[in-house]
Amino acid sequence: MSAQTHPMVIDGKELTFAPGETVLEVARRNGIDIPTLCHLKGTTPTGACRACVVEVQGARSLVAACAMPAAPKMVVSTESPKVATARRMVIELLLASGNHNCLVKGSDGRSFEEYAERLKRAGGGIEPCPAWGDCRLQELAWRYGVTGGRFSPTPVRYPIEDVNPFIVRDFSRCIVCGRCVQACNEVQVNQAIHQGFRGARSKIVAAGDRPYRESDCVFCGECVQTCPTGALVEKDVRHKVRPWETRKVRTTCSYCGVGCQLELNVKDNRVVQVTGVPDVPPNYGSLCVKGRFGFDFIASPERLTQPLIRANGDFRQASWDEALNLVARRLGEVKAASGPDSIGVLASARITNEENYVAQKFTRAVLQTNNIDHCARL
Ligand code: SF4
Ligand code: SF4
Ligand code: SF4
Repeated sequence: MSAQTHPMVIDGKELTFAPGETVLEVARRNGIDIPTLCHLKGTTPTGACRACVVEVQGARSLVAACAMPAAPKMVVSTESPKVATARRMVIELLLASGNHNCLVKGSDGRSFEEYAERLKRAGGGIEPCPAWGDCRLQELAWRYGVTGGRFSPTPVRYPIEDVNPFIVRDFSRCIVCGRCVQACNEVQVNQAIHQGFRGARSKIVAAGDRPYRESDCVFCGECVQTCPTGALVEKDVRHKVRPWETRKVRTTCSYCGVGCQLELNVKDNRVVQVTGVPDVPPNYGSLCVKGRFGFDFIASPERLTQPLIRANGDFRQASWDEALNLVARRLGEVKAASGPDSIGVLASARITNEENYVAQKFTRAVLQTNNIDHCARL
């Protein structure tokens, strides 16, 4: 923050802000929780969802905290009765848009345990939402005691897009908040999706309103991770994996040397999903298609688990001792016959720094050649 600060008041607390900060940023920096749906940290605010409206003394109407620049002597209320009423209306309208057959509907709004139990039991009579409770809209409905039913649902205009390799788009649960567009265009800078059509026909569109797989989409999955509802869900996870069934194991992506931080979501001892670790360098939650979706190999039955030795034009399984002895003997023979520079070693961009260090040490100190390189595809 700049050394130049100004005073303002939020919920009775005198706070300072730097030029350019929004009311939302000042509030969050000071531990004041203003709910948001469309806001995506680090991108241009759109003020699309109106969940973050606050009351500013002297203003004619409520303002969106995510887009409102903080100003000297500004006095803000983030949870006044007027604000709470407006937020309830926003949430009620969003729940009535499309097909939010949400378990928060009909909840008594008092017992979270009862509600969570109903969520876990669902799956019989009604088709459960694939968000499985991992939904910011549902959380807000719970927080503000909105149980739905006040307005008739708007018609579902667009069918589910299920033709993509990794991502299912369910427009019936899309609240057109535009968060995915910000993620695609401003975080990943892929420019693959945009706001399309107008009014009740509003829709997030890929080029020419075609499926992701026929567009410029590179399937990085940033939009899925960013979506606050069940509108974008990973294909292999949809209706199969519930958030509370997995444990998260943090690790470093092994596909390249960037070192992206990710979490393996593990169910029944198998990796079922990969998510980026938010707010941590170097990737700050973002991943590429390989890091996010390229994990099938972990449990592949075709994976090599034992050394193979080629004999008579075919491979046969061998013990590690036999394989290593063979390699050592042959390297020694080649070195004795043709000199160390007749040998070259290819390491890999996919292994760790430590493993590459050992590979170069072995090449230089044991084989006595500088012929060490790596192949990005190994
Ligand atoms: S997307 Fe969210 S609000 Fe809509 S039905 Fe699913 S859980 Fe409920
Ligand atoms: S797909 Fe998700 S992130 Fe994108 S506009 Fe719809 S609800 Fe928002
Ligand atoms: S997967 Fe990546 S490239 Fe494709 S629409 Fe989503 S954010 Fe854009």
